[in-house]
Amino acid sequence: MRRALVALIATAATLAGTALPALAAPAPGAAGLGDEYFPDYGNSGYDVSHYDIRLRYHPDTDTLTGTTTILATATQDLSSFDLDFVLDVTSVRVNNRVATATRAGDHELVVTPPRALAAGQPMTVVVQYSGVPSSKRAAGFTAWTRTPDGGLAVGEPEMAWWWFPANDHPADKATFDVSVAVPDGTEVISNGVQPRPPSPEITGWTRWNWRSVKPMATYLAFLAIGQYDLRTDTAPNGQPVLTAYSQLLAPDYADAARASVERTAEVIDWESGVFGPYPFEAQGGVVAPPGSISFALENQTRPVYSSKFFRSGSNMYVVVHELAHQWFGDSVSVAQWKHIWLNEGFASYAEWLWSQAQGEGTAQEIFDYTYAQYPADSPFWSVEPGDPGAADVFDGAVYDRGAMTLHQLRLAVGDDAFFDIVRTWTTTHRYGNGTTDEFVALAERISGKQLDALFQTWLFTPGKPDVATAPAAAAAPARAAAPHQPRSWARIQQAHALLAGH
Ligand SMILES: [Zn+2]
Repeated sequence: MRRALVALIATAATLAGTALPALAAPAPGAAGLGDEYFPDYGNSGYDVSHYDIRLRYHPDTDTLTGTTTILATATQDLSSFDLDFVLDVTSVRVNNRVATATRAGDHELVVTPPRALAAGQPMTVVVQYSGVPSSKRAAGFTAWTRTPDGGLAVGEPEMAWWWFPANDHPADKATFDVSVAVPDGTEVISNGVQPRPPSPEITGWTRWNWRSVKPMATYLAFLAIGQYDLRTDTAPNGQPVLTAYSQLLAPDYADAARASVERTAEVIDWESGVFGPYPFEAQGGVVAPPGSISFALENQTRPVYSSKFFRSGSNMYVVVHELAHQWFGDSVSVAQWKHIWLNEGFASYAEWLWSQAQGEGTAQEIFDYTYAQYPADSPFWSVEPGDPGAADVFDGAVYDRGAMTLHQLRLAVGDDAFFDIVRTWTTTHRYGNGTTDEFVALAERISGKQLDALFQTWLFTPGKPDVATAPAAAAAPARAAAPHQPRSWARIQQAHALLAGH
């Protein structure tokens, strides 16, 4: 938009025969992308199209060394720009020329090339680095998890800083090549497909290669390095499936985990019927070593699960949740973190739909039971899912009240319009970003109904909404004062207790 405006002004000036105003001098890119909750996450002034991350990792010492090559385009006349990164940088080159790099703030690396970049100019940025990621703190913690046999790079929204320099915000997605050399006998799992099988490198070392050909938000890129049992298969839709289970899992946990995660292709097949075509090129899942992470994350093509989800047996609800995120969060990503309910509300509502499909309680029954769980004075109702605040982006209300919002929308517009809205959303925003306003506008356009009041009530108003005022509720049969507990409830709660609050 800005570039079009400049062109218009230039044309007008030329036509008028007046001298153009002097062009502004190249300016530094900002140390943020304008995110309301996380103002210094991501950077402005450039747009990344591809990351080539080539690493070597020593599990014994948790030492990571390597080179990341970033392909980007300057979006303004640029004198310097930031990358988000915390490891120790040994050199930076921009378009083959040595650039200076200095640290700023919590996690910023300020790169000044010897020559300014012009708006629209391609940038090839090569960063060489090393470090012990578990020893680096930023945002008050380290997101890198050292395990007894390796490491895990799995986290949201902060994770890239500890293993590759990035424009670390979901508003700037890119494709990825990830290549990691490790001692023979160690496994490396990441996103996407394996363009080459693991191959011997220098004596005693094996290099693993992974490729993501669809755009990916930086927080969704992951590494799991350690001793893993791998399983490969082909999904009903022909895509490669790769699942990985830490060899440190106790046998009962491992069996429960397999009984859940091995159904990944079935769940994706079912969700494709509900949400529209699966957006990515591969499928799978990773179950992390015990004592490492306590959550699950929807890493693109291959979610990573804490073993805790499987401590009392299989749990399909966390698998359904993380795989629904492939549509809601991964393919359609938040434009800003305040829109997080578009991720967590949909992933949670997918669980309700799965429960109904499995005969374990209908979406209405789960809504009623959830609604009855929290009295009007419960703190649950104090969080606005549509604008929870930076400290509460993963509050339980973002999940459960987000799902309740979608259920209220469905009651208001009817099933046909609701699933039309859902599939149009995943289609029109595929591989891009979305905002709450855009979702509301789409829902109103497809349904032909005014929905401002519904979304205002459920997303942006603290307090327990009165369901009797919902348009469809008046026509619904009177419900029992104390709804019975859906059979899926315990496992959904077990999943959400670990997912929310992370
Ligand atoms: Zn989630």
